This record gives sequence, structure tokens and C-alpha cells, in this order.
Amino acid sequence: MQLMRDDFDPGIGMTSKRTRERLVARLRQAGIGSPDVLAVIGALPRHLFVDEALASRAYEDSALPIGYGQTISQPYTVARMTEALLESATPDTVLEIGSGSGFQTAVLASLVRRVYSVERLQELLACAQERLRLLKKRNVRFMHGDGALGWREYAPYQGIMVTAAPRGVPRALAEQLAPGGVMVLPMGEGTKQMLVRVTRTRGGFKQEVLEAVSFVPLLSGVS
Ligand code: SAH
Repeated sequence: MQLMRDDFDPGIGMTSKRTRERLVARLRQAGIGSPDVLAVIGALPRHLFVDEALASRAYEDSALPIGYGQTISQPYTVARMTEALLESATPDTVLEIGSGSGFQTAVLASLVRRVYSVERLQELLACAQERLRLLKKRNVRFMHGDGALGWREYAPYQGIMVTAAPRGVPRALAEQLAPGGVMVLPMGEGTKQMLVRVTRTRGGFKQEVLEAVSFVPLLSGVS
């Protein structure tokens, strides 16, 4: 009988602890400083969030296709957005728009008390839900819907994370942000997208531009 080196290693090393440690080292080098974010990414089995045929590439720092023209975000981007969301304080509840593979959802669920995640593609939503169930992340609620409208039922949220790019800040999301709350989102079209952090202040909203990014567009309607 063959002994496995760790829980997720299929025996050929491509998803081993060392492979994940290499990814964490790379993220640290790229400027990710939060020990909590690095620890969570180092512990999550990202290969379970992509198609089996791509599992050997799951710990590279790159975005990968997840079907339906969508991608699982690059680990660096997931780390950067999470860090930006949690920088001033750890939010109690986070609304995520664009569940996709569920990887960013799993990162958030490991760091905050409760995550609400909205996805417009039913098939992706079902897969994401199953992955989070397998990983025993029980503090997540999913909804099939148009995330540009937010999720009124549980609003306001101390944190909002958007993982598909609108042209501007969707009004409903700004409205569902709690006072002092933080929203991190990519904004703009094509090659001109920027990662933006919006903070709800006493008098209104403060906007900071963080860095250039590349996301799929935030689409309206569901399918
Ligand atoms: N965080 C995800 C990224 C997925 S890509 C991951 O790491 O896997 C962006 C996702 O946003 C896609 O799944 C896409 O279907 C979804 N999306 C696009 N527009 C949306 C909208 N209006 N409401 C909800 N989800 C949307």
C-alpha cells in the first residue's frame, strides 16, 4: 500500500504541501503581507476548485478556466483583494458577488464569521456550493441571482467583494454597505480595469484606486 504524504496529495506531488508552500512564498514575494491571508491560501486545496485536467496547474499563480467563459481568479488577485478588504478591520459579514469556482468564497469563509455569495450561473453555483460543503465551510450562504442588485435580505454588510467588473460602483451594492464598511471591486472595461476600494464614511463614500487588474465583466440577469 502506498503512503500518502498529506491529505490532498494524489501520490505524485503536484498538490502536495510543498507545492502549496511554494505558492505562498511566491505571493509573499509579490507583496502579500497578511500572515492570515497567506496561511489560509496555503491551507486550501485549490486543485479541488478547477477541472481535474487542470489540477497540476492549480498552484501556479495564474487564473484558470472554469467553464462557461469564466475563470478562477489568480491566487495573487484573491490574496490582494482579501487583504484590501480586511486591512482596517475584519468584517463580521461579507457579501461576495460572483461565486465562480468558490475559491474566493472559501478564503473569505476561513477569515470572517459569515459569507453571503451571489452567482448568476446556476451550474457554477451548484459546483461552488458542493466544494464548500466538502470542505465543511458551513458559514456560507449562496444565492442564484444578479449580484448587481446585492442581497437585501441580510444587508447591510461590513464587507463587499465583487469578482466581476462593473463599469461603475453598482448603486444597490453601495446602499447595502454598512457605515464604516469596505467594498473591494474591479471597475472598468477591457485593459483599463482598476481594483478599487470604496469605504462608506459618515458623509458618503471614499474611493481608493489600488492597482490594475483583469476580470470578466459583471453581467446582468441570470442563466
Ligand atoms: N471569485 C471567483 C471568480 C469567478 S469569475 C473565483 O475565484 O472562482 C466571475 C464570476 O462572476 C463568474 O462566475 C460570473 O458568472 C459571475 N458574475 C458575472 N456577473 C454577475 C452578476 N451580475 N451577478 C452574479 N455573478 C456574476
